[in-house]
Amino acid sequence: MAWFAEYPREKIEWYPTIDEDKCVKCGMCMNCGQKVYKWTGDVPIVANPYKCVVGCTTCATLCQGKAISFPDKEALRELYKKEGIWAKVKKGLKEEGRLEVTD
Ligand code: SF4
Ligand code: SF4
Repeated sequence: MAWFAEYPREKIEWYPTIDEDKCVKCGMCMNCGQKVYKWTGDVPIVANPYKCVVGCTTCATLCQGKAISFPDKEALRELYKKEGIWAKVKKGLKEEGRLEVTD
C-alpha cells in the first residue's frame, strides 16, 4: 500500500481476528473490499491479514455475531508515535501529490 511505502505494513499488527464460536456465518465480513477474508467451506477465514486497512474496524461493526476483534488501538497510537509513521505517510502523500499542506 502506497501509504506505507516507507514503512513495512507487516510490521503493523493490525488485522481482524474471528472468534469461531461467536461467528453466525452471516457473511457480512465478506463485504470488505480489501480481500482480507476468504470464505472456506462454510466459514470465513482471515486470509490476507496485512491487506486490512490500518485503523479500520468496519467489519467488526457489521458482524452480526460480534465475532470480530482487533488489537488495542492504544498500541497502534504508540507505534505511530514511536516510529514517526505519520511523517512517513505525509512524505508519501506529498510525493503522490495528494497532500498540499506544508510541514
Ligand atoms: S477492518 Fe476494514 S479493511 Fe480490515 S478487514 Fe475489516 S473491513 Fe476490511
Ligand atoms: S461477519 Fe462475523 S458473524 Fe458474520 S460471517 Fe463474518 S465473522 Fe462470522
